[in-house]
Amino acid sequence: MAAEVKVLLEGFTTADSKNEGEEKTCPTISLVKDKDIVMVADPGVLDDENQLLDALRKAGIKADDVNCVALTHSHIDHYKNAGLFKKAKILEYFGLWDGQKCDDWAEQFSENIRIVKTPGHDSTSLTFFIKTESGIVAICGDVFWKEDFPEEDAYAQDMHELRKSRKLVLENADWVIPGHGKMFKAKK
Ligand SMILES: [Zn+2]
Repeated sequence: MAAEVKVLLEGFTTADSKNEGEEKTCPTISLVKDKDIVMVADPGVLDDENQLLDALRKAGIKADDVNCVALTHSHIDHYKNAGLFKKAKILEYFGLWDGQKCDDWAEQFSENIRIVKTPGHDSTSLTFFIKTESGIVAICGDVFWKEDFPEEDAYAQDMHELRKSRKLVLENADWVIPGHGKMFKAKK
C-alpha cells in the first residue's frame, strides 16, 4: 500500500524580497503516513504552535501519535518545533535520534519512504521521496524554496552541489514539496 502525504501548513518566505532583518519565513510543514509511521516533516517555526497542532487535529492526529519528525536540513526555521512531539524519533542528516541515542538510518527508511542526501543549500540537506497513489512526492526542504524559485540561492552553501540536487529531485519525483511554498508538479 502506498503512503499518504498531506501538506499541513503551506510555508512562505520574504527572504528574497525584504531587506535583511525584516524578512519573515515559515517552512512548509507536511504529514506523512506509511503503515505505522506517522511522520511530521519540517515542523517549522510558527508564531503560534497551535497552528500546527490544529492542522494535525484536523487530520485526526494528536501530537503524541507522531512517532517520527523528519528534518530536511539543520536550519532552525525548519526544526524549531521538533520538541512538540514527545514520542517521536528525530530523523536528520546525522542519524535517527531516539531520546539521547542516535542510530544510522537506512536509505530505504520504510516501504514507501526513501531518504537521499541532497546537499547544496546546506551540507545537511536530505530529501524524502514518498511513494503515494498519485506518484512520488519529494519533500526536499530548500533544494527548492518554492515553485518559482530564484535560480541563485543567496543562502546556499554550494551552488554547484545545489544544481545537481535540484536535478536529482526533479528526475526522481512527480511532485515537489518545496521548503517555503506550495506543492508543485515536477517539470521534466
Ligand atoms: Zn528554509
